[in-house]
Amino acid sequence: MLTVSYITNRIFNSRTYILSDPNSNIVWLVDCGDVDRIVESIGEKQVAGVLLTHVHFDHIYGLKELMAKYPKVLVYTNGFGAEALKSPKQNLSHYHSDYNDVSIDAPENIFILKEGDSFELFGYTVQIYETPGHSPSCLTFIVAGLAFTGDAYIPGVKVFTGFPHSNRKQAASSLDKILRLTSNCSIMPGHSVQ
Ligand SMILES: [Zn+2]
Repeated sequence: MLTVSYITNRIFNSRTYILSDPNSNIVWLVDCGDVDRIVESIGEKQVAGVLLTHVHFDHIYGLKELMAKYPKVLVYTNGFGAEALKSPKQNLSHYHSDYNDVSIDAPENIFILKEGDSFELFGYTVQIYETPGHSPSCLTFIVAGLAFTGDAYIPGVKVFTGFPHSNRKQAASSLDKILRLTSNCSIMPGHSVQ
């Protein structure tokens, strides 16, 4: 059985989702912010993998600490995301001088996804869709009627396309695609909105 909970992270209220199964001692994450809160939530369970909705620093800033604690963790992103993980300018940590450089360079931990890929998680199939626009690294993950849309679709919020590498036209067609694909899904967006 797939169980989902989330943490609202300290930086920009981004969300980290925790995907677990009561009969398994591993969990998977969607995005990675406050590692202390993740650990508090999962106890003795191990983090096996992280699905990145996109590689902007507020969605990845915990990865370094997470990988120090769980060295075998797999990080799933697309080809652009794999490059952006290494580059403080592309993952935007460069532009936030209050924060550390959150970049990571760990090719052995990175698993590259593309449109149409799928894999099994706790007996459910996770479908991968590329939904660029907010960032070229934007992926939407659909599993068990849940759609993890990151910042490509936050209900009630206009998709932000003012970042380097954002593309407004792509964002609009990705939004159409997401709405079409997720009409029967619960939306799990990338931020908690007050
Ligand atoms: Zn973002």
